[in-house]
This record gives sequence, structure tokens and C-alpha cells, in this order.
Amino acid sequence: MQTIVLKPKKEDSLLRFHPWVFSGAIAHNPDPLTEGEVIRVVSAKGDVLGVGHYQLGSIAVRMLSFRDEAIDAEFYRRRISAAYTMRIHLGLIRPDNNSFRLIHGEGDNLPGLIIDMYAGTAVVQAHSVGMHRDREMIVDALRRVIPEDNLRNIFYKSETTLPFNGDVDPENEYLYGGTDVDYVSVENGLNFHIDWLRGQKTGFFVDQRENRRLLESYSFGRNVLNMFCYTGGFSVYALRGGASKVVSVDSSSKAMMLTDENVRLNFGEDPRHESFTEDAFKFLKEMPDGVYDLIVLDPPAFAKHRGAINNALQGYKKLNASAIEKIASGGILFTFSCSQAISREQFRLAVFSAAALSRRKVSILHQLTQPADHPINIYHPEGEYLKGLVLYVE
Ligand code: SAH
Repeated sequence: MQTIVLKPKKEDSLLRFHPWVFSGAIAHNPDPLTEGEVIRVVSAKGDVLGVGHYQLGSIAVRMLSFRDEAIDAEFYRRRISAAYTMRIHLGLIRPDNNSFRLIHGEGDNLPGLIIDMYAGTAVVQAHSVGMHRDREMIVDALRRVIPEDNLRNIFYKSETTLPFNGDVDPENEYLYGGTDVDYVSVENGLNFHIDWLRGQKTGFFVDQRENRRLLESYSFGRNVLNMFCYTGGFSVYALRGGASKVVSVDSSSKAMMLTDENVRLNFGEDPRHESFTEDAFKFLKEMPDGVYDLIVLDPPAFAKHRGAINNALQGYKKLNASAIEKIASGGILFTFSCSQAISREQFRLAVFSAAALSRRKVSILHQLTQPADHPINIYHPEGEYLKGLVLYVE
């Protein structure tokens, strides 16, 4: 294992277990280092701070351990086992729930790795070249930790998260199983067809599970508008909650097909549901006032990096302003931001500005976040990304 030496005083964040080493903190890089290799990080005084994956770019090392230990199959087995045990304790592995996030990067002490579980299929996504290189060890660890009945396939999906180049070839493929695949997964007793082969991210937004359940509890007798519906998660919960009407909107026709399919899987041809393939801003602008009394706004991350924050805040303000202006009296608005670069306070301020434009009476009923299977490593506050507000509009 090669060693990277930090500049004087640059060890402080690592002593507080923050898992990233920025390239500017490095005094000496051994030559040649291969992207993705496991390296030891040492302070200027010569103390070993831990080991991590080396990568090109501003985050030069993603720390895997704050001890001097081997990163081998046994290491991955221990980490994955700890994460699986946590999901058992969280009560997420049940006959009526087999969709959950097993590994949430830094939150599960495995920076660069995401694993979502859908009805016995693990969808593995590498966000660092190091995790890509270690994928066979990860597959081996998964098979050792998870009982066979609960793990029938492992699909590796990193084509969209890693660049193809001479050394790295992150082809999407089954690394285990692949012949007996069940694409219907269960979340809180509801069925969802999950298309990890072609869908966004790992195929489904598991992170809204608890927030969908809260929406269900407000749905009875309401006219629901689910904007940015993707595979229709909120719509299906609203229908089960007894909504009078549910309208789903997404700009992607593929997403609308998946939404319709998920409604059908649970309720057959349900005349309460209608779907529109349309731009959300246009839809909100053109819809009449007072039709919907429960609205969901769950857009994609408007700020993908810090430079985009101001524009993103304007986007959130505009979107929320149209919804608050048009929601029926006594209406409830679920509004979200999944931009990691935007803080809870910034998002709340954008929604406040939107409310002020409408001049209506607005109260905050709930402040929402990501669920427990997307844990935030206390030493890595950057891991908190999902923010939501539930508003009551008089
Ligand atoms: N609420 C969803 C996840 C939303 S992901 C769930 O619970 O699963 C964001 C979605 O917004 C994507 O499906 C994307 O196709 C859609 N989208 C992006 N830009 C849009 C726009 N301008 N108008 C409507 N939909 C848009």
C-alpha cells in the first residue's frame, strides 16, 4: 500500500473522522498512483490517520477506515454486515416491505458506494473508481451477509456515475444471478415495478418512503396533484389513502408509463387517477385556481453544485409560488428539495419568499428529511440532502 503525506495541520478534519481529503491538503503524492487504489494517509508528523480510496479531482481520498487496516473482502463483509443489521433493527425487512437502501455512502462508512435492495435484487452503484475496482469483493461480501432467500441477484449500475476511460469500464451488468428476476418490489404493502436497467438512479426513489406514508395520511377525500411524479410513488400512496382524485405530472413519458403501470399494479384501472406528460412549470402556470387541495412538489436537484445555488433558489421560489397561489383554501403542500448544496435554511427561505408573494396565510405543519436507511454520518454533515416542508394554506 502506498502512502500519501499531508501538509502540516491538515490532519485535523481526519482526527474528527471527516471522510474526505482534499487535494490541497496533500504535501506529497507517491508516483505513480492509480485512481481507485487503496492508500494510507499519514500526517506531516508521520502519524497514520487511516486508509482510503485515491481519486483524481478535488476530493483526493475518500477514507474507508481511520485505522491502518487491509481493505479486503473481510473489511467489506464487516461494513455490509453492520449496515444490514441496522436495517433489520429499523424494521425495514418485512414481507410487506422489501425495498430499502442498504448502503448509503458515508452514512454507512463506505464513501462512494450506494446499494438499494428491491425484492431480493441488490442494485450496486459506485460513485468512486475505488468502489468500482472493489466491486467483486462487494459482491462476495453481500452474498456472505444476506441470506440466500433475500438476495437472488446483484445488478451493477455505474455507467451514469463513472466515466468510461481506458482503465475504468463500468458496464451495467448482473454480477450475480440475473435469470430469476422479480421487478416488482414492495414498499409499505404497495407494489412498484422498478426498472433499474433503464430507470434513473437505481430505478426508484427509496428516500421518499416515509414522506409518502405521511402524505397518505392526509389524502382522504382530497384532490391530489403529484408534480415530478417519476414512478408515481406519492400517487399510489394517495390513492390508497382514499384521495378523491390524483393527477400525476412528469416531463418524461417513460416516467408516466411507469406511474400508470404502478397505479394499475395496485388498483387496476382506477378512474380516480389521471396522468400528464408535461413540464411542471407550464402545468402549474396553466392550471386554474382552487382545484387541488393536496399538492406534492418533488423536483430533481436544481443545484447540482455550489455555483448553481442562486439560480436553484429562484427555481424553488417560482415553483412554490405558483403552487401556493393556486392551491385550494385549506390545502396542504408537500414541498421538497434534494439539492445537497442547498441548506435547510436556504430552502425554507425560498419557500417563505414564495408564500409572501401569494400573501396567503401559510403555516408549517412538518419539516421532513431523508429516512433512517439514508443515515447521516455525524462527522459528515454534507450527507444530509433531502429537505421537505409540509405547509397548510388557509
Ligand atoms: N417524486 C418522485 C421522484 C422525483 S425525481 C418519487 O417519489 O419517486 C424528479 C422527476 O422530475 C423526474 O422523474 C424527472 O423526469 C422530472 N422532471 C424533471 N424536470 C421536470 C420538469 N421541468 N417538469 C416536469 N417533470 C420534470
